[in-house]
Amino acid sequence: MRDPIRSIVIVGGGTAGWMAATFLARRLAHLRLSITVVESSAIGTIGVGEATVPAVRDFFAAIDLGEADVLRETEATIKYGIRFAGWKEPGHDFFHPFGLYGVAAHGVPFHHYWLKLRANGDATPLGAYCLATQLAERGLFLPPVDRPANELGVFNFAVHFDASKFAALLRRLALANGVQHVDARIDAVARDGEDGRVTTVTLDDGRAIAGDLWIDCSGFRSLLLGEALHVPFVDWRRWLPCDRAVAIPCTAAQVHRPFTTATATRAGWRWHIPLRHRVGNGHVYCSDFIDDAAAEDELLAALEGEPLAAPNRIRFTAGHRARFWEKNVVGLGLASGFLEPLESTSITLIQSGLERLIPLFPACDIDPRLAATYNRQSVLEFERIRDFLMLHYSGNQRVGEPFWDHVRAIKPTEGLQGKLDAWRAAGEFVRREWDTFQDASWLSMYAGFDDLPARYAVRADEVPVADLRDSLMRMRAAIDGTLRHAEPHEDFLTRVHAGR
Ligand code: FAD
Repeated sequence: MRDPIRSIVIVGGGTAGWMAATFLARRLAHLRLSITVVESSAIGTIGVGEATVPAVRDFFAAIDLGEADVLRETEATIKYGIRFAGWKEPGHDFFHPFGLYGVAAHGVPFHHYWLKLRANGDATPLGAYCLATQLAERGLFLPPVDRPANELGVFNFAVHFDASKFAALLRRLALANGVQHVDARIDAVARDGEDGRVTTVTLDDGRAIAGDLWIDCSGFRSLLLGEALHVPFVDWRRWLPCDRAVAIPCTAAQVHRPFTTATATRAGWRWHIPLRHRVGNGHVYCSDFIDDAAAEDELLAALEGEPLAAPNRIRFTAGHRARFWEKNVVGLGLASGFLEPLESTSITLIQSGLERLIPLFPACDIDPRLAATYNRQSVLEFERIRDFLMLHYSGNQRVGEPFWDHVRAIKPTEGLQGKLDAWRAAGEFVRREWDTFQDASWLSMYAGFDDLPARYAVRADEVPVADLRDSLMRMRAAIDGTLRHAEPHEDFLTRVHAGR
């Protein structure tokens, strides 16, 4: 048996590195570990990653970060979901909300009743039964309640924040919790001659830093997992072919939308992320179908304000390291894998990677079964998100556009096909372990693409059409009633930023 784990070295000071530092310093405080972040300000961070999912609120709570402080210090706005424009076809759009639709009855999920009314000529969109969608569409803010009376009250929000301000906030918190910070470039990584674990890194100023457990947050370079330990990369380009992005921030609009917008383009899609002080814009595209200059021009032409910085050009490959935990190195963030930011999943993957690590945290010897468990769970989580992202492309009807024809023709993975079969045949959801996106999210996509099942559940026929009409009308009225308690998103932001 080796000595207990006494020191953790986190390589990288981007969002992943500082999230890891604050979280581990808090959760493992009782172990009195030495935690060091080594980063190179000369190399810098990727500088994108501004949209989140509601789970980020749990992260704030886990590290005792006040939500109002985050909103104020990171120039944040509220996000109730994502508006997808042009994905089915030009001119069409739909919303993926952070909330549920309607109220289930007699054990039958709400969407079957909605489908039944549709079959009887009622064209009310699904979003009319979702509070988060309505808040987004009307530019309102309302905090979720703890114990809602029924599903109509179940919704949540995420935030759009300035990633560098968020990293700075985390850094302050980490340092206050005893984390040490070294700003230097790592030039060499040394491994144990016997078992191959990482022992020390050598810095450009000649210093050496030793550690028992290493967290690789070095970004796409994957300094430890990839370069030092040679863990291969599992390439998912055949399923998610977009491989480049260009990002250009621009001046902020007067009114901030409480949602992200993802707009389909000729060979990919554009993001619009409203922050208080600027708008984050980017174009994610597939280099087989458009060149860099044309992709940049398309983004510049769509900006709703004045550019604030030179274009940030980024290359990536969808996929992940074959193992997220290898020997005494755990990879987080871009060092461990990447899926395009269509559903803003990278930051939440950093968070879940950290949460998964705590129950498996090695006391002394690194039992290979810990890493095997961690790796199995991490791969499943990535695969589930991959399948959900593929669904965003497969449902398009942009026939005759080469990129969209290509992505529509990509054969679904077995997992996605299983989900599609159950949905199309019976309006059923197949639930899988480690699915980040639950039924309502899948439903928003299916309905958004008008990919509706062959039939609604037979049990929905227990309720006569006239009763159903009344009941669904009452649900819409209940949502309207709740919305009367909401305030304009803009007023909320002004209030929070003024510290009220
Ligand atoms: P980085 O920010 O790249 O940090 C790497 C760190 O390693 C830096 O501190 C660097 O200095 C350090 N480093 C590297 N080499 C060395 C060395 N030799 N010595 C010392 N230090 C070193 N995520 C979301 O959740 N939402 C989004 O909306 C979103 N949008 C994105 C858009 C694009 C186009 C891309 C590519 C990513 C997006 N992401 C998004 C992902 C998000 O940007 C990352 O998950 C997040 O920023 C974490 O990055 P990181 O910390 O892993 O890497």
